Amino acid sequence: MQELTHYLNGEHVNGTSGRFADVYNPAIGEIISRTPLASKAEMDQAVQYAAAAQPAWAAKNPQRRARVMMKMVDLMHRDMDKLAEALSREHGKTLPDAKGDVIRGLEVVEYCIGAPQLLKGEFTDGAGPGIDMYSMKQALGVCAGVTPFNFPAMIPMWMFAPAIACGNAFILKPSERNPSVPIMLAELMEEAGLPKGILQIVNGDKEAVDAIIDHPEIQSIGFVGSTPIAQYIYAGGCANGKRVQAFGGAKNHAIIMPDADMDNVVNALIGAGYGAAGERCMAISVAVPVGEDTADRLIKALTPRVESLKIGPYTSGDDVDFGPVITGAAKEKINALVQSGVDQGATLAVDGRGFSLQGYEDGFFVGASLFDNVTTDMDIYKQEIFGPVLSTVRAKTYEEAIGYAMDHEYGNGTAIFTRDGDTARDFASRINVGMVGVNVPIPVPLAYHTFGGWKKSAFGDLNQHGPDAFKFYTRTKTVTSRWPSGTKEGANFSIPTME
Ligand code: NAD
Repeated sequence: MQELTHYLNGEHVNGTSGRFADVYNPAIGEIISRTPLASKAEMDQAVQYAAAAQPAWAAKNPQRRARVMMKMVDLMHRDMDKLAEALSREHGKTLPDAKGDVIRGLEVVEYCIGAPQLLKGEFTDGAGPGIDMYSMKQALGVCAGVTPFNFPAMIPMWMFAPAIACGNAFILKPSERNPSVPIMLAELMEEAGLPKGILQIVNGDKEAVDAIIDHPEIQSIGFVGSTPIAQYIYAGGCANGKRVQAFGGAKNHAIIMPDADMDNVVNALIGAGYGAAGERCMAISVAVPVGEDTADRLIKALTPRVESLKIGPYTSGDDVDFGPVITGAAKEKINALVQSGVDQGATLAVDGRGFSLQGYEDGFFVGASLFDNVTTDMDIYKQEIFGPVLSTVRAKTYEEAIGYAMDHEYGNGTAIFTRDGDTARDFASRINVGMVGVNVPIPVPLAYHTFGGWKKSAFGDLNQHGPDAFKFYTRTKTVTSRWPSGTKEGANFSIPTME
């Protein structure tokens, strides 16, 4: 069995803790490698390398740092097939979806080519007699990120690309479920010209994460994953004086108004509800049709489409709509939640349990399920299922429908389907959710805007990528200077003002 490594100071380094996690190919349900789980000492070694390399990197002018990003874009295009294959093998998503994962990260790298512009400071000429005032954005030092299994390329790049473009060193602790692509990305960054030690991959679990939270040299933590861990890292990191942004789980509602184009709605919900086996934080997991007639038309149109979804391994090429879920435990959890929906009184319009694929009987495949008549007290409504399950909650009015999305504890994404601009505008304005789609089911902002949810979907002040990332990964220093310095002034015991 292949033994994976850490990537420290430009080298593949074997784990020394003696602890490992099995890495599966979810399509066949077999262990294909094992990844080391770092100890506190291994994390400390990475921090030492990072701290030693970072000052020289920060001292390079931003244009030189941006050139690494430019080259990285080319290298990722060169290696796209290789990256997508490695990603699908450990994650299970289809190859086109894996390429999407890589490309959405690449777009953040492209955005970071703008670092010279994005890092410009401010200057006030003549703030007082002979006085100028200017502010600059400086790197934090050593930054760290902890990422989830579901986007093993995109989410690491959300973090390391802006952090590094700002002049920081970055230590990534990727998901132990699929650690190969992050290491490939670190190798490519070095091929693109990044000095050793500026991007390191430390594989691990809670022990490595706790070492990040507690390490005095690490200035910031970026986290994406489930809400309980987001809260844990946010609380621990903040208590230790670090800058933290922590993004959590989701339960994204799509409101379907009676005037919506039902063909578009069905296409949108099929892709957004079941794509990547529902393992996306921006997946639509709740459909809220407004009015009985809308609900009846929706269920009638959705049912045959859900029943005919093609499920299979990524090696089947374009002929597959979605692949397996990540682990056997995830499969069991999803099936148990579907059973709880039945037990608690929801109507199971399509039952995906019991799906089996010839030749892949041990794979972690879960068929697509569709629920009707779901109510807000049910576990399938309250919990994030993170599987190919769409729950329909019927609403009598628009006010009732928007109320469901407003009252849910998560607030990552949402969408409304309507032809009425007034309703769409009201929805976008009032909804307490961070990312809103109008006739767009997965409104993931592009790299030059920012990504982030509200409520229990995100903790911290600044979003991922876009201008917020350049704020998160820098700190502002403001200089007040007086020239000529020879101006004589008596001692002043009052606070200086501009009066
Ligand atoms: P997870 O929370 O289990 O793991 C995320 C990371 O935290 C991994 O690197 C893991 O090793 C680490 N971790 C796990 N348990 C830990 C513990 N006890 N202490 C410290 N660290 C720990 O999440 P996952 O299953 O990998 O990913 C799925 C979750 O991520 C879903 O809830 C999904 O909604 C969420 N997600 C959110 C966003 C977003 O932007 N809001 C994006 C993608 C995924």
